[in-house]
Amino acid sequence: MALNPFEMATKQLENAAAKLKLDKGILKVLSQPERALEVSVPVVMDDGRIEVFSGYRVQYSSVRGPCKGGIRYHQDVTIDEVKALAAWMTWKCAVVNIPYGGGKGGIKVDPFKMSEAEIRRMTRRFTVMILPLIGPEKDIPAPDVNTGPATMDWMMDTVSMFKGYCAPGVVTGKSIELGGSLGRKEATGRGVMICTLELLKRLKKEPEKTTVAVQGYGNVGSISATLLAEQGCKIMGVSDVSTGFYNPNGLNIKEINKYVETSKNRLLKGYNAKGAEEITNEQLLTLDVDVLVPAALEGVITEKIARKIKAKIISEGANGPTTPDADKILLENGVIVIPDILANAGGVVCSYFEWVQDLQSFFWDEDEVNRRLENVMSKSFNEVWSFAKEKKVDMRNGAMMLAVQKVATALQKRGIFP
Ligand code: NAD
Repeated sequence: MALNPFEMATKQLENAAAKLKLDKGILKVLSQPERALEVSVPVVMDDGRIEVFSGYRVQYSSVRGPCKGGIRYHQDVTIDEVKALAAWMTWKCAVVNIPYGGGKGGIKVDPFKMSEAEIRRMTRRFTVMILPLIGPEKDIPAPDVNTGPATMDWMMDTVSMFKGYCAPGVVTGKSIELGGSLGRKEATGRGVMICTLELLKRLKKEPEKTTVAVQGYGNVGSISATLLAEQGCKIMGVSDVSTGFYNPNGLNIKEINKYVETSKNRLLKGYNAKGAEEITNEQLLTLDVDVLVPAALEGVITEKIARKIKAKIISEGANGPTTPDADKILLENGVIVIPDILANAGGVVCSYFEWVQDLQSFFWDEDEVNRRLENVMSKSFNEVWSFAKEKKVDMRNGAMMLAVQKVATALQKRGIFP
C-alpha cells in the first residue's frame, strides 16, 4: 500500500510530543494545518484544448511567523502530501530559528509533458487562485520539485500586476535580477554539505576519506554532490528518475554537471564515461559508501531498503525520504540520520535572507550570504546534536523535539484565540 506522507509526518510529531510530555490540547492544535485551499486550475493548452489541474496551498502554522514553503509540480501531488510537506516546513523553520511558520503548495501535473508557455499560463492562473492566501507578511512560496526561478518570477509578476506595484517579497527563489538572493540556488545543497561535514568532524572522519552516494540529481542533489566533492569527498554514485551511475573509483562530478547542463530535461540518462556503470535507484540507495544523500522524493527509504543500507550516515537532502519504520531499523543498525528538517534547511534559511533583503531593498554580496548561512546551519546542527545527546535520542527525534517545543511555547504564549 502506498505510504501516506501526512500520516508519516503526524507520527513523527506524536513521537516528539510523547517524549516532551506535550499538553494534549496543544498537540491537537499542532496535528492539523491551520488552512488548506484546494483550487482547480484551467489552462488553455498550445493546441487550443482546455485542461484542468488540481492545485493546493496549505498553511500548516503561522504561530511563529508568516507561512513559508515551496510549490511542487508533480503528477503524484496529493493534499496529504502537501499537508505533510507544510508540517515539515513548520518544524524546519523552528529548528533553525527563523521567524516563519510552515506552508506548502503544489499542482498535480507532469510538467515534462507541457511546453514552457503552458507551464507559464498554469503558474499565473494558479497564483491568482491562491492570491487570497499569499503575501510577504502572511505566506511566502518558494521553488520545490520541478519548479525554479522562472516559476517564482512568473508568480512575483502575477502578484505585482494585481497589486499595481512591484512585490518582490511575495516569493523567494526568484532570479537575481528580480530581487533573488545570491547563493539561494546553492543554499539547500550547501546546507546538506555543512551538516554532513559537521557530523564527520564529530565522528573524527576526514572528508578526503569519505565516500558518498546521492539520489536525485536536481537542485539539491547536484549541488550537494558538487560541494561535497569540493570538500574532498569521493562521490561514488548518483541517480535521478531516468537512471543512476556508479564508479568504484569515484565519479567525475564536474563532467556530470557539464553533461546535465545540455541533456534532455537535465537528466543523467545517456551519460557515458569510462569506469562509470549504470545502476538502478535501489542499487544507489544500498551502495557501500559512508554517506547516503537522498535528494529526490519522500518515502524512498522503506523498511525493506533500510535493511540493505550500508551507509553509516544519511544526510536527508529530500523532505521525508525515510519512513518511520525504516527509521527504527536504521537506528538499530547504528546509522546516524541527519534529519531533513535540519539537513535541507539551508534553502529556507537563504529564502529568509532573500525576503529580508527584498523588504529592506538592500542586497548582500554572496560571501555575506554564505557566511550567514554557515553560521545558522552550524549553530543549528550543534543545537540539535547537543539536545539529542542530552535527551538520549537520535537526531530526528532531537530535531523534532526542539522544533515542536519552540512552536508549542509560542502557541502557549499567544494563547488560543479568542
Ligand atoms: P528537483 O526537481 O530540482 O530535483 C529532483 C530530482 O529527483 C531530479 O533529479 C529527479 O530526476 C529526481 N527524481 C524524481 N523522482 C525520482 C525517483 N522516483 N527516483 C529517483 N530520482 C527521482 O527538486 P529539488 O528542488 O532538488 O528537490 C529535491 C528534494 O529536496 C525534494 O524532496 C524537495 O522537497 C527537497 N527540498 C528542496 C529544496 C530546494 O531549495 N530546492 C529545499 C529543501 C528541500
